[in-house]
Amino acid sequence: MEPLYSLIVPIYNEEANIAELYRRVSAVMEQLDGDAELLFVDDGSRDRSLAMIQALRQQDSRVCYLSFARNFGHQIAVTAGLNFARGKAVVVMDADLQDPPELILDMAEQWHQGYHVVYAQRTQRRQESLLKRGFAYVFYRLLTRLADVDIPTDTGDFCLMDRQVVSVLNAMPERNRYIRGLRAWIGFRQTAIRFERDPRFAGEVKYTFRKSLSLGINGLVSFSKVPLRLSTYVGLIAAAIALLMVVLVLYWRFFDPNSRLTGFATIAVAIFFLGAVQLISIGILGEYIGRIYEEVKGRPLYTLAEVAGFPNIQRSTPNGAIAVRHDSTS
Ligand code: UDP
Ligand code: MG
Repeated sequence: MEPLYSLIVPIYNEEANIAELYRRVSAVMEQLDGDAELLFVDDGSRDRSLAMIQALRQQDSRVCYLSFARNFGHQIAVTAGLNFARGKAVVVMDADLQDPPELILDMAEQWHQGYHVVYAQRTQRRQESLLKRGFAYVFYRLLTRLADVDIPTDTGDFCLMDRQVVSVLNAMPERNRYIRGLRAWIGFRQTAIRFERDPRFAGEVKYTFRKSLSLGINGLVSFSKVPLRLSTYVGLIAAAIALLMVVLVLYWRFFDPNSRLTGFATIAVAIFFLGAVQLISIGILGEYIGRIYEEVKGRPLYTLAEVAGFPNIQRSTPNGAIAVRHDSTS
């Protein structure tokens, strides 16, 4: 029997959260109006996470899991979950209980009202550092200004998606996956549920500053061509200033005999400034070209070391990954 709901939870070293997560999520699963599967995606954890998930599967057949051969990152883990989920409605949530599982009930209700995507929008981020909140605030507003599609501000990946939307997501071939952006791009009827983001239940943040930054750049580059145009604009402005300088220099040379056209500092600053502009432009170009290179290589998005709970698994999933081992229980 196919479940009505799939709950996808990416896991990277979350041993301290899994027991409490399971307690709260299974309570929610009881209250849902249909069967649900709990799909863990172990993103190459190095702690006891996988063993704990395996133990849960022993005692609860609604639990199924995929385990990556190494750490591929959160967005790829979610992608794998979406590839394998069987529900008519699919929920994506974090393992650290920052996304309150009880909200799933409200999401399901909106889904029954006819919405295809119900995403959670944070009104507050409690106990996250001022720096992180500041960055997130600026970033989401910048993205809204620059992106070609309307990506709602302050939304993460916590959402419920209808099967139709998941099928479209699975059919998207791109390797650089900024899922909350792709989700907005797809369209259909979307609605928000506002909530206060709780602090992490236990354990360290797995999204380091570097990972968050790279996710942000990915979002910008995947959904906007404005950065590419930036160098054109700066180039035009520099050309205008240069023309003005020509006029000024000619004037000084012929009509102002007292002015001495010395200006080592001016020249040095101009050279450094233009050098910097050129290097930054090359860097921006590089961001786009690097992504083209990634796409062209066409490697699978992830490699699976272990899969449990999917009896009819195909050897190759939509995004090209290959399952190498099954559990015997399925
Ligand atoms: N995560 C993952 N792979 C990673 C980093 C994080 O699967 O490389 C998972 C992590 O286990 C958690 C979710 O992504 O379930 C969100 O991570 P975290 O709470 O550290 O990020 P934040 O709350 O800052 O979004
Ligand atoms: Mg978190």
